[in-house]
Amino acid sequence: MRIVLLGAPGAGKGTHCKRIADRYGVLHLSSGDILRRERAAGTELGRKAQGYMDAGALVPDELVVEMMSRAMKDASAGVVLDGFPRTVNQAEVLDKALAAKGGGIDVVMNLVVDDGVVVARITGRRSCPKCGAVYHVKNMPPKVAGVCDKDGAALVQRPDDTEEVVRNRLETYYRQTEPVVDYYKSKRTVDDIDASGDADVVAKVIFEKLDRLAGKKK
Ligand code: AMP
Repeated sequence: MRIVLLGAPGAGKGTHCKRIADRYGVLHLSSGDILRRERAAGTELGRKAQGYMDAGALVPDELVVEMMSRAMKDASAGVVLDGFPRTVNQAEVLDKALAAKGGGIDVVMNLVVDDGVVVARITGRRSCPKCGAVYHVKNMPPKVAGVCDKDGAALVQRPDDTEEVVRNRLETYYRQTEPVVDYYKSKRTVDDIDASGDADVVAKVIFEKLDRLAGKKK
């Protein structure tokens, strides 16, 4: 099963992609997480991506497409794509690459939320640098403030989760990524999902749709 989860920054893509990966046994590929790992490892790609990421801009397509093609080689059991494709060009390249192998995307979901919700969510977001678990200071706090429930590591705020950068990321989203929703809608069914509510409620809606599909195709 190949799934694309679309949505503005802060719509809940990371949270829901993790849950989807756990439930259906597919690989969770987050382009943002991969880029952050490249940066932490000090690779050439990481160094090239740094300035764009810190400004809330997109990393150039050719870098991201190559990186994701490499990552998708391990996705024989299926994949849920998080943060990719983020431009119409990336979506077209992905479609062509999958079609060349006789495949395609099985489901596209679009998480819909208001900007105000996004800003509140992102600026309160904290994550575990060790296991990637994501928390929120108000909506999903860890048991002990600032500490990961799973492995005890100190939680961190991403440098691009400050309000100023979030506003830039939203602007980038409307200019470059929202057209990806229209691109898919012109070709296939896209499930718009109201993602402004509680994560468990949103997950239930997502799972109902995917359960039906998983019944048909693994
Ligand atoms: P995310 O964690 O998905 O919000 O991504 C963090 C940052 O990584 C973004 O603000 C971009 O700078 C960069 N990034 C992630 N995915 C992509 C992509 N598909 N295309 C271009 N840049 C990306």
